[in-house]
Order: sequence, then structure tokens, then C-alpha cells
Amino acid sequence: MDYYSSQISKLIEELSRLPGIGSKSAQRLAFHIINMPKEQVSQLAQTITEAKANVRYCRCCCTLTDKETCPICASEKRDHKTIMVVENPRDLAAYERTQKYRGVYHVLHGAISPMLGIGPGDIRLKELMVRLQQDVDEVIIATNSSLEGETTASYISKLVKPTGIKVSRIASGVPVGGDLEYVDEVTLARALDGRSTL
Ligand code: ZN
Repeated sequence: MDYYSSQISKLIEELSRLPGIGSKSAQRLAFHIINMPKEQVSQLAQTITEAKANVRYCRCCCTLTDKETCPICASEKRDHKTIMVVENPRDLAAYERTQKYRGVYHVLHGAISPMLGIGPGDIRLKELMVRLQQDVDEVIIATNSSLEGETTASYISKLVKPTGIKVSRIASGVPVGGDLEYVDEVTLARALDGRSTL
């Protein structure tokens, strides 16, 4: 039965499709939006539309950016010979918050998962291999310590080793299965310092 007007039901339905939003949260958000001033709602809708239209992948590290090259790849202050491989832009943000890493990144947008049918060709590995043809000293693999993250790490290590480039893996200390973005900065910085060569 439709308790609400069909417009509100539709809004609740759309919101409940977002990750982490259950039907109760979707209802709460929907009513909040309905009660917001009209201009604020327009601003929110416009921001979402513009972000979707303008955000793209950095041509170098594949993170999300609204420029052709992201600010990290464009920065001369960063060490472009050290590449840290992460699963997603949120992990990149987590490492940036530590303010301890001066290298650049490569964002895979996922991890290899035979269970979910995600293979090496489904993440941004090809782009990484292209980058390794340039002058690179070290590849730091900072995928999550989940089964998928570990599978991805050993796959990358096997790909990189023949190139002669140093490959390292961040220290465990990052909780198993824990998403990197939820790990505090001190733990992340320690995991980076304690990385071991593969
Ligand atoms: Zn970039």
C-alpha cells in the first residue's frame, strides 16, 4: 500500500538505492528534503548533476577529478617515481589525510574477485602497467587486507616484478577486511612506514 504520495514514494525509492541507505534512512532523508527550502533543494540537485557531468578519471592515476590531470599528479612537489596502488579514491583520501606520503597514486577502482566475477581486466591495471614504462622506483601496494585485496596484491606483484621495479606491500596492522578509509591516520602512516618488499 502506498502510504505516501507517489512522488514521495518515488523519492524514497531512489534514495534507498544509494549504498548504506536502508528504507528507514531513505524515508528520513526524503522528508528532510521535502522540508528543505526550495533553493537549497535546487542547489543540491544542481550540484549532483554538475558533479556527474564534470567529474572524470585522471588521465594519469585514474582517480576522480574535474580536471584532465588531478592535483596530485599535476604537483611538482610529489615524488612521481613512487606509485601507491589503492582500490578506490576514498583510500587515496585516507592516505592523503596522514600527510605522510609524498609519492603519487594509482587508483584501481575495485579489486580482483573471482567470487564476484571481477577479473584483472575489470580494474585499472592496464593503465598501471603503461605508467610503469616510465621512470618508476617503487610500487607500493596498498589494497585492502581482504581476500580480494590480497588476491589483487599478489597479482600486481607478479606483474611488476619482471620489470625490475621495487614492489612493496603496506604492513598488516590494517585490520583484516577493514576498509582503509575507516583506519585512523596513525595506523595508516605506520602501515606505510612498515611496508615490506615483495
Ligand atoms: Zn592523478
